Amino acid sequence: MLKRKGLHERGKSRIITLLCLIAIGSGVAVQRDIISLTGLVPAYQLPWTPLVLDQPLGVVARWKLSRLSRQPEACRDFLLREASSRVTALPDRTATNGCQLVNHWRVAAVADDNGGNEIAAVRFNNAFIASCPLAVSWLFFERHGLQPTAQTFLGQRVTQVDHLGSYACRNIYGRENARRSEHATADALDVAGFRLAEGRQINLLADWANEDDAEGRFLRAIQQAACQSFGTVLGPDYNAAHRDHFHLGTRGWRVCR
Ligand SMILES: [Zn+2]
Repeated sequence: MLKRKGLHERGKSRIITLLCLIAIGSGVAVQRDIISLTGLVPAYQLPWTPLVLDQPLGVVARWKLSRLSRQPEACRDFLLREASSRVTALPDRTATNGCQLVNHWRVAAVADDNGGNEIAAVRFNNAFIASCPLAVSWLFFERHGLQPTAQTFLGQRVTQVDHLGSYACRNIYGRENARRSEHATADALDVAGFRLAEGRQINLLADWANEDDAEGRFLRAIQQAACQSFGTVLGPDYNAAHRDHFHLGTRGWRVCR
């Protein structure tokens, strides 16, 4: 009798647990729908919606961006949706000396002008190889950092970015015992200068020291803007190795020196 009662109680508690799990599950789903439908939070700020380029990076979008290195499909989808006229997928390269390239892209020097909203894209002095997260981070920086900062400080657009390269299979500073650089996986771009619509050139080597000039103020503002889109940003104030460029890397979280 006691045994039968025990079995009965156990069965009842299992059913209650199951009902609770169903209730919690549907509660979460309903909550998602309510938040979406009522417009309490814009869709792009919800953690479960895809990253969109139109909106500047808030905390949630930065979190989504940081996850793209572990979500190759989502990263690929973003690039094909937002920058198909500027990027071409490259075949994976197996590791040689520990520098494996997976889900990496060629960013063209000049965007193909069939690309709709990408027509006004900046030019580069050379095409470069970029990991998917680097290409995505660059797009956010260009749209929400570089061009608005140029308009604010110089009253015009940047038309060309001069860089020193992105991919190099090496350790940090080329040291034998250091860890692999972000450049070893094309996760960083070194930017040396900018050319403006009116033709002027601004270079880190020549203009960083001119703190009181528009050029020097522009470069400092650019570094701060880059810190919104990249995980690691190093400039001339960091050390002598960076006196002529900004290192814009995707790893790290708000390293901005
Ligand atoms: Zn670098």
